[in-house]
Amino acid sequence: MEKVIIVRYAEIHLKGKNRGYFERVFCVNLEKALKGIRHELRRTSGRYLIAAFDDLDAEEILSRISRVFGVHSYSIGYRVPSDLDSVFAAARIVCPQAGTFKVETHRADKRYPMTSIEISAAIGGKLLDANPALKVDVHAPQHTVYLDIREEGTALVFGAFEEGAGGMPVGTSSKGLLLISGGIDSPVAGYMMAKRGMDVEYLHFHSYPYTNEQAKDKVVELARILSRYAGGESLATVKVTHIQEEIHKKCAPELNVTLLRRFMFRIAERVAKRKGAKCLITGESLGQVASQTMEGIASSNAVVTLPVFRPLIGFDKEEIIVRAKKIGTFDTSVLPYEDCCTVFLPEFPAIKPKLSFIEEEEKKLDVEALVEEALTTLERISIH
Ligand code: ATP
Ligand code: MG
Repeated sequence: MEKVIIVRYAEIHLKGKNRGYFERVFCVNLEKALKGIRHELRRTSGRYLIAAFDDLDAEEILSRISRVFGVHSYSIGYRVPSDLDSVFAAARIVCPQAGTFKVETHRADKRYPMTSIEISAAIGGKLLDANPALKVDVHAPQHTVYLDIREEGTALVFGAFEEGAGGMPVGTSSKGLLLISGGIDSPVAGYMMAKRGMDVEYLHFHSYPYTNEQAKDKVVELARILSRYAGGESLATVKVTHIQEEIHKKCAPELNVTLLRRFMFRIAERVAKRKGAKCLITGESLGQVASQTMEGIASSNAVVTLPVFRPLIGFDKEEIIVRAKKIGTFDTSVLPYEDCCTVFLPEFPAIKPKLSFIEEEEKKLDVEALVEEALTTLERISIH
């Protein structure tokens, strides 16, 4: 009897001719998630088995698997020869000691001498005989014992299906650059894109010395938590202090945020190109703050050619918070360190800035020189 974790994949089977590619990426991602833990990863028809692990590592493996996109469901159980005695021995371990139960059998091996129903009845009967505290309830049982009779003369026996993260394997939908602040929204935005298979890189703008080291550490920590789902090795940071000072000194105060965002997008596009990222990702949500109006969004889109994805555009703050808590970024996001956007924040930011007015104000700045200068402050911080 061998203890195994069974991993079933999600949408991958839909991908027809690309299936081999999707499976390879998925397999690499599973291996990456299990790095540092002794195990064996085996592919069997339509699923993966993790075996040869230390019992003490089982919880950690399950927790890591729960964060891998492309996993539809997973179970911990046993792999045994498919004869009834061996199956029964595993079923006894999997089945709790009391309460109502049923046995559900899936028979992939159609040459097996019994039907699914016969197997369920036989194992169910043996379990009842062995333990009088159990009772069968086929409609609403407290426990289900699952038997999966495989073609290779083996059976998988397990007690539950845990829901996986769903989505597609990270890396199958190209690469995107996430503009990550220290807030609640941007990490969730990165998560959403990673869920659709996008490999995420991270870029953060700071305004040192107006913002401090702690603010930066917080973003590193957010990127680190996110990378457990979304991949990525490092966080790029760029200093925008001089840009903010120039805007503050020379331009209409109500455009401070709008103008800064246009600089952020320009810089981000260049960083993205260096990193091979094909799009920008932000945590904007329509109407959430003054800069996230249709006009604000259009004014920042106007300075870049790469597509900009805003997966939270239609989400309420409460919906975003629920997700942030689930992902595990919320507690870090609400730590009270200053973000660069709050430095030089105008009292009345323009809600519907006209593009012609923005462009007029921007002429007071040497945009290209400021972008180039900011790029010289580019730093790469390892997040692992
Ligand atoms: P968040 O919770 O993600 O900080 P927010 O509600 O505070 O979002 P804004 O400050 O208007 O909204 O920022 C909108 C988006 O712009 C963010 O979601 C993020 O993608 C990007 N952004 C803002 N500030 C920064 C920053 N300092 N570095 C990198 N990206 C930023
Ligand atoms: Mg913010």
